Amino acid sequence: MTAFSSLPLPPAVLANLTQLGYESMTPIQAASLPVALAGKDLIAQAKTGSGKTAAFALALLSKLNPRWFAVQAMVLCPTRELADQVTVEIRRLARAQDNIKVVTLCGGVATRGQRASLENGAHIVVGTPGRIMDLLEREYLSLENLNTLVLDEADRMLDMGFFDDIATVVRQAPKERQTLLFSATYPEGIEKLATQFMREPQQITVKAAVAENTIEQRFYEVERSNRLDTVGLLLNHFRPVSTIAFCNTKAQCNALVTQLQGQGFVAQALHGDLEQRDRDQVLAQFANRSCSVLVATDVASRGLDVKELDLVINVDITPDAEVHVHRIGRTGRAGQSGLAVSLASMNEMGSVGKIEQYQNAPSVWFKRDELTPTGSGRLLPPMVTVQIAGGRKEKIRPGDVLGALTSTEGGPAYTREQIGKIAVTEFCTFVGVERSIAKDACAKLNAGKVKGKSVRARLL
Ligand code: AMP
Repeated sequence: MTAFSSLPLPPAVLANLTQLGYESMTPIQAASLPVALAGKDLIAQAKTGSGKTAAFALALLSKLNPRWFAVQAMVLCPTRELADQVTVEIRRLARAQDNIKVVTLCGGVATRGQRASLENGAHIVVGTPGRIMDLLEREYLSLENLNTLVLDEADRMLDMGFFDDIATVVRQAPKERQTLLFSATYPEGIEKLATQFMREPQQITVKAAVAENTIEQRFYEVERSNRLDTVGLLLNHFRPVSTIAFCNTKAQCNALVTQLQGQGFVAQALHGDLEQRDRDQVLAQFANRSCSVLVATDVASRGLDVKELDLVINVDITPDAEVHVHRIGRTGRAGQSGLAVSLASMNEMGSVGKIEQYQNAPSVWFKRDELTPTGSGRLLPPMVTVQIAGGRKEKIRPGDVLGALTSTEGGPAYTREQIGKIAVTEFCTFVGVERSIAKDACAKLNAGKVKGKSVRARLL
């Protein structure tokens, strides 16, 4: 256990960390923060869930001058979801300092809003290489005052073919800067990034203690005819609140969702064919615990960070052992224990063998017919999502929605505990509320006001 107080951080920052419940540093933080706070370049091997965001965020915040309205730090991320999460985490960590503006710059939405945010003065930008390149080209964004550059999930960015975009962006940043690179794996391209864009980077590797220690893996042998049925058996047996079920193809995702919904489970698909809007909705519902099962392909789930995931199901075994480790690593985060179940048929045993080799551990098999239902009745998620028409465009903030629900206007005042995650997207807002109050809460929102205005709300 290493205390944050061993670092050269101001008392207000330390107090904020305590308030956030960060009692001690995670291994990657303990290894990288002393180096990063000393201003040195760094290549750190870390994956989502390791606390890597705080590792680079504390470093870039320590150098930031809030009174100087210029982009002083930039974080490049592979996906919009990751960029959103990084922004949220930086804002939480920046609470101790006054008025630090963090702007997310990703594709898929109009540039107008982003341009306006930049014009209003941003200290930190977080975004995907393509959009940032675009904004640089159009001179909406300038990097001439940048002092910290972070490449987050660099391996994923390379996977997605972002090398040239990254290079184009980084060339527009001053040479005098600190560069921090975080990556779960070290494909060749990382070396290339390091030699081209970093100065004597220190390399940091932390053993993936989480993946090895706290995730229990179970394998079940299935047949083609009962593979999808087995998912329902698992859900009724383990009764998890939040599950991700990974499939190798979109077709399999759709087949499984149809089957689960037919069996009365609340399940939704996340794959590459979804419109951004639907994707936002599915992710909000899953994150606020009003969807029990997210059925996803590997590509679509990139960058997804869900806390308190009880169960990961590998509905199909992936032929890529590294992908398998990524999949199961989504559970058992931040020291919690997790369960990962893999369904394998005879013709997938080759892939299972590869996974055993890669993990250097034998697979442990369980019997399908031991999956008996436990508990009583249908497995229902604890929350229900209320969708409110109006989002970032209308300048709605989570606090406005919380305020409306906890006020006495339009119906009984609810307590904070009855209200879950609130996600504000471009055009609408999703709020999770306890199942027992869902109908009334929706009626209350329709009757009352959010941010002084009447709104339309509906249950999803
Ligand atoms: P990340 O790997 O950055 O995605 O972080 C995983 C989660 O752990 C995030 O939700 C963080 O808020 C949380 N976290 C990061 N550092 C700590 C810490 N030192 N103690 C407790 N939680 C942490």
